[in-house]
Amino acid sequence: MERSGSPLDVLRRVFGYPGFRGLQEAAVRHVMGGGDALVLMPTGGGKSLCYQLPALCRPGTAIVVSPLIALMDDQVAALRQLGIAAGALHSELDPDEQRRVGRALDAGQLDLVYVSPERLLSPGTLERLQRRSLSLIAIDEAHCVSQWGHEFRPEYRALADLAARFPGVPRIALTATADPRTRTDVLEALAMQGARVFVASFHRPNLQVACEAKRAESAQLLELLHRHPDEAGIVYCGSRAKTERMAAWLQGKGVAAVVFHAGLPAEAKRAALARFRSGEPVVVVATIAFGMGIDRPDVRFVAHLDMPDSPEAYYQQIGRAGRDGDPSETLLLYGGEDIARARHWLTQSAAPEAQKRVMHDRLEAMIALTETAGCRTRALLACFGEDLGADCGHCDNCISPVGTFDGTVEAQKLLSAVYRTGQRFGAGHVINVLLGKASEMVLQRQHDRLPTFGIGADRTRNFWRGVIRQLVARGALQVESGELPTLSLVTEKARPILRGEERVMLREDILIERDRRRGSPE
Ligand code: ADP
Ligand code: ZN
Repeated sequence: MERSGSPLDVLRRVFGYPGFRGLQEAAVRHVMGGGDALVLMPTGGGKSLCYQLPALCRPGTAIVVSPLIALMDDQVAALRQLGIAAGALHSELDPDEQRRVGRALDAGQLDLVYVSPERLLSPGTLERLQRRSLSLIAIDEAHCVSQWGHEFRPEYRALADLAARFPGVPRIALTATADPRTRTDVLEALAMQGARVFVASFHRPNLQVACEAKRAESAQLLELLHRHPDEAGIVYCGSRAKTERMAAWLQGKGVAAVVFHAGLPAEAKRAALARFRSGEPVVVVATIAFGMGIDRPDVRFVAHLDMPDSPEAYYQQIGRAGRDGDPSETLLLYGGEDIARARHWLTQSAAPEAQKRVMHDRLEAMIALTETAGCRTRALLACFGEDLGADCGHCDNCISPVGTFDGTVEAQKLLSAVYRTGQRFGAGHVINVLLGKASEMVLQRQHDRLPTFGIGADRTRNFWRGVIRQLVARGALQVESGELPTLSLVTEKARPILRGEERVMLREDILIERDRRRGSPE
């Protein structure tokens, strides 16, 4: 590859783009000058050019560490099409290709070599690279080094040694994970404290963000799908079993649905990926295992049937929609049970206390996002320390603002119904008591004689479900998941409400929600 010309020339001549986007130019210039950089840009923001251009303009070979083989192969193929000398080293190459790439590398003929962290850190490879002159080291998906993130890769931690092994070679770490904690974590774990940090705006104006309380999730999902006939989308579920159940149900409804989760045989995973990449209108029903390296540009919607455990994970997952910049829709369905389950897992987790606290904070931030009555996009970006400055104008809350009302009395009724029934029952039973429904269980326990029996008959069942959800979100109620989930009070949060010392503002939309149960796979 001819190395003459400025980065802008190369951008135009080799990549065929008229100019830089956003922070690309500043990042490229910094790395060209030999500085270390951390680049934070949303998915689709154009991170690759930030190392590919300096790789072409600086003398020597660039090492690109990447965690996913499929991703590496795609990148190498794309670069080769542009006439760039690139290769990959990883465990799934056939021996011939491996030898070819090795020879080209030894002869100094490669501009870029993509390598998995395991392969990079194997003694043979390190020695081989130490004999070469390197233009830079790029560490893609750098958040994988953060122990507290959702995509932690232990192999990434050893990358901190690269500074000592390759002194004077600029390093550039790249990620689409934006929260400030991951940022500090990456810089520390990679021993890059001196790096310049380039943070792009994470606002994706073409993504329409919406969250809805779960009423009948499959019916809610179908409504979304009906808005996107013959388009590609992703439906995230919280468990493998649920992806299979949901996909089968959707297929029964005539939707071109495929399953993807980490427990599938390799062949099935490959087939699902191939269909997704083929460009046909397919709906992938997946666990979070379906993610990194998915870069189909025309994904028109992303749905979550269970709540992600952090705003970071949520943002990354919805970010897989609309990479082509066209309007795309995202929908998160959430329910009190999700919240209870996530909190339950956290308390059961064997993780160190400090880590649990971080996970807890992230979970609470996620819950707050689902419950916010303000601009959803703005609240999401605020999680990453970014202030949008104005409401986005196109999220669900911007389009139809939710008001709030003083629901203190309702909250008190609900909390006392939970208390009076002995904190041993689930939502269904407690609501029966409030509604004055003399169910078998109510009669058997003589709960029809409680002073709370029937005090909530002026409201609907869904209204009370909404109150429970918001009290769970607020931390005044907890759901203990035994054989059957039971509601109980969290004393320090519930007492001031019961005593009338604290007002409870509830979202007004629970006043108008109706029972809309339709066909459901459960
Ligand atoms: P990321 O790695 O941040 O997800 P990519 O590097 O894959 O994003 O870039 C996303 C898309 O944007 C790609 O299709 C790429 O070709 C395109 N792109 C990147 N930079 C530019 C630019 N300066 N001008 C035009 N298109 C660009
Ligand atoms: Zn908004």
